[in-house]
Amino acid sequence: MTKGFVPSRVFFEPKALDYPLGKMLVEGFQTMGVPTTPTPSHNRVTGIPGANPAQAYREAKRTLVIGVRRSEKFQSCKPSAHYQLPLVTSCPGMCEYCYLATTLGKKPYIRIYVNLDEILAIAAKLIQERSPELTYFEGAATSDPLPTEQYTGALKQTIEFFGHEEHGRFRFVTKFTEVDSLLSARHEGHTRFRFSLNCATVVQRFEHLTPAPEDRIVAAGKVLKAGYPLGFIIAPVFRFPGWQEEYRRLLERTAEELEKLAPGGWSPEQLTLEFISHRYTLKAKARILEVFPASSLPMAEEERKFKYGQFGYGKYIYPPETLAELREFFQDQVKLYFPAAKVEYFI
Ligand code: SF4
Repeated sequence: MTKGFVPSRVFFEPKALDYPLGKMLVEGFQTMGVPTTPTPSHNRVTGIPGANPAQAYREAKRTLVIGVRRSEKFQSCKPSAHYQLPLVTSCPGMCEYCYLATTLGKKPYIRIYVNLDEILAIAAKLIQERSPELTYFEGAATSDPLPTEQYTGALKQTIEFFGHEEHGRFRFVTKFTEVDSLLSARHEGHTRFRFSLNCATVVQRFEHLTPAPEDRIVAAGKVLKAGYPLGFIIAPVFRFPGWQEEYRRLLERTAEELEKLAPGGWSPEQLTLEFISHRYTLKAKARILEVFPASSLPMAEEERKFKYGQFGYGKYIYPPETLAELREFFQDQVKLYFPAAKVEYFI
C-alpha cells in the first residue's frame, strides 16, 4: 500500500489565500513543515530543482502548486465526455508510459485549484445549456485526482455537486486507493468511479509510486459496495512472456472481490470495462527515454504498425495479428469473469 502523498515543496498564488481552502491548505502545509513559497502564476512556476530531465521530472512530481483557476472555459473531452472538469493537473505517480509526461512539459508539477465553487458554477451553466440532454464531465483528463483528495476534498464536493444535478454526470479514473472519504458521498449514481488496473509485472516495471493491483481491486470493491457505477480501464495492455496467465489472474481476482461484496452480480450500467493496447508516438518515446533512460518499455518501431493520427502525430500500435490475439483473449476473459459487464471499447 502506498502512503498518502506528502509534497516536498508547495508553491501558492497569493490570491489563493483569499479563499478558505487556499488559506487552510497553505497554513496546513506550513504546520507540517513543508516549505511554502508564493508564485506569481500557477502556470509558470520557477524554483523546482533538477539538474537534468530525470531529476526535474522527479522533483516536479513532488511539488504541489495551489492556484486560482481564472478561465471560464472548459476544454472539450471527446469522445468519452463533453468537457474536462479542471480539478487537478498531474499526479505524484511516475508511470513510464504516462502521456502527461509529454503534454505537461519538462516539469509536470501537481496543481490544484482553490476556487472549486466557481469551477462548479461554470459546470452548472454548461449542464443547463444542454438540458434536458445529459452532459458528461471527465475529472481525470490531465491528472489522477485522488492523491490530493486528502487535502482538498475536491472530488467529494464534485461528486455531491453532480449528485444534485439531474442532467450532469461525472466520471474519473484513478490508480490510487485512498477512497474511504468518498464512500459516504451522496453520489446518487451520477458519478462513474473508474480504476486503472494492470497485472503485477506491468505495475512493478512501469507504474512507479502507484499502489499494487491487489490494493486497487480492494478499493474498487469498496466503491462498488458504496453503490457507485464502477469501471475498470485495463491499460496499457502489453504482450509479454506470460501475459495471458497474468491478465487472466488479474481479472479472476477482480471478479472474485466484486462478487464477495456485491453477491449476485451486477448490471451493465453498474460495471463498465475499457481496454487500451499499448501505443506510443516518437515524441513520447524521446521524452520517456529522457526521463527514464533505462526504460524497458517495448518501443521498437520494427515490431509495430504505424498508424497516422491527428495533427501529424502518428502512433506505433501493435500489428493487426497481435491486436486480434489480444482482443480475442480479453473477450473470452470478459465472458468468463464479467458476463454482465459492458465493454466500452477495445483499442
Ligand atoms: S497514475 Fe496516471 S496520471 Fe499518474 S503518472 Fe501514472 S498514468 Fe500518469
